[in-house]
Amino acid sequence: MTTEYLNHISGEFRPARSARWIDSTDPATGEVWARVPASGAEDVDDAVAAAAAAFPAWRATPPLRRAALLRAWSEAVLARSAELAGIESRDNGRVLRETRDADVPGGALHIQYNASLADKITGDTVHLGGTALASTYYEPFGVVGVVIPWNAPLAMFFAKVSGALAAGNAVVVKPAEQACCSILAACELFERAGFPPGLVNVVSGTGPEAGEALVDHPGVAKLHFTGSTATGRRVTERSAANLKNLSLELGGKSPDIVFDDADLDAAAAGAAAGIYTGGAGQACVAGSRILIQDTIFEEFTERLRERAAAIRLGDPRDPDTGMGPIAFAGQYRKVLSYLESAPADGAEPLFGGRTGAAAVADPALAGGYWVEPTLFTAADNRPAVCREEVFGPVAVAIPFGSEEEAYALANETDYGLAGGAWTRDLNRAHRAIAAIEAGTVWINTFRRIHWAVPFGGHKQSGNLPANGVDGLREWLNLKAAWIELG
Ligand code: NAD
Repeated sequence: MTTEYLNHISGEFRPARSARWIDSTDPATGEVWARVPASGAEDVDDAVAAAAAAFPAWRATPPLRRAALLRAWSEAVLARSAELAGIESRDNGRVLRETRDADVPGGALHIQYNASLADKITGDTVHLGGTALASTYYEPFGVVGVVIPWNAPLAMFFAKVSGALAAGNAVVVKPAEQACCSILAACELFERAGFPPGLVNVVSGTGPEAGEALVDHPGVAKLHFTGSTATGRRVTERSAANLKNLSLELGGKSPDIVFDDADLDAAAAGAAAGIYTGGAGQACVAGSRILIQDTIFEEFTERLRERAAAIRLGDPRDPDTGMGPIAFAGQYRKVLSYLESAPADGAEPLFGGRTGAAAVADPALAGGYWVEPTLFTAADNRPAVCREEVFGPVAVAIPFGSEEEAYALANETDYGLAGGAWTRDLNRAHRAIAAIEAGTVWINTFRRIHWAVPFGGHKQSGNLPANGVDGLREWLNLKAAWIELG
């Protein structure tokens, strides 16, 4: 029997006005397990109208009251964390170790962090001399739209919505049609936490229908988009028509550089987590290009092979599972196409590559979207698998000689989301931080994200830092005021 999830508009749970639905598949089995509304422009209109009606009172709500409601929401999330994590693990195959142990409790703490910022929104006074005084104000935008992807829906939902609310905005969220059941289930907690109806609305549907309706909507003052660089470009072009304020968090092709003076055990563990066990490689910050100094190339790829062989693929809701499936059929086909085309394109397979039933031991999961940890090697960044975001457990090992060569290879990409370097040399560590063109650089660690640390893409990976104290600025509109005192 399939479970039905509904839109959340004006504090009510509703199907799409068109009564159309989108099936949601359990990627571990390939079976449909739920359905969500296939919303269109009319549902987005309803959601924006509800948010617009809720905004004036929320804007006028004292910041400490906003913070108290956000904390109540955080508590409600924690109380339901096992259930919400289980829904998400079923819906997109993200393992419980991530959803239950990191995304949901971490999301609750992110809400609390943003709650603590609600009463710290201040402006400046600008001393001009003479008789004029200028000052600055940070104001909420009004109704903000939030478009998010399927790879870690709850974590992104909690982070974005809590920031927008702490700043005094009302929100309409368009989650990804492939995996949004956990978000729709979590909507029940808003009114329970004491938020007024209409303050947060969630409308599920496809990008071309519900997503574009939100981008186009004249009642949405600001749009936050997290997703692929290709869609980010389309959203940017489309929003040129109304020039709404636009924030982008996009894709990556992050380099993970292993120097020969590194702690190779730690580096192998970090590199394997960076591309395999972390979301089965379906992470914007996946370390998909592992650049290895030529003196240790064979030894290090052998260590990666051993680590990959020890990763158990299986039921994402089993707490002992190391890696889950690809989240849905379309993404699975995309990953398979890279596995097929890479050898002819100049990338040589080193290990892995088995897919479907051949990649998973449990016969009950034979219909799932399985890809085992895979490593190719290439001489340079020329093959597509070195340049394009695969978004699966597929890495390429590229050898380098000198440190300069490593940075040149690392930066030979349009993306600039993240990068890492493994070394015991402190000076080299600092040089790597300066040399790698990315919004985040990790030294002797990889794939770490925290609500208190700014996070955002350089180059074609985005246009803002989220998180941290400055992250709240994304949700605030700067105004200057002049007063003539003479
Ligand atoms: P996607 O761009 O296909 O979709 C993302 C969201 O945009 C979905 O909700 C989708 O329905 C919607 N959408 C699609 N077309 C649209 C349109 N024309 N107008 C408005 N909305 C539209 O990306 P995806 O495949 O769902 O997600 C994976 C991508 O997200 C990867 O590139 C990954 O790197 C990126 N990502 C980035 C971050 C980050 O913080 N930088 C975090 C997570 C994921």
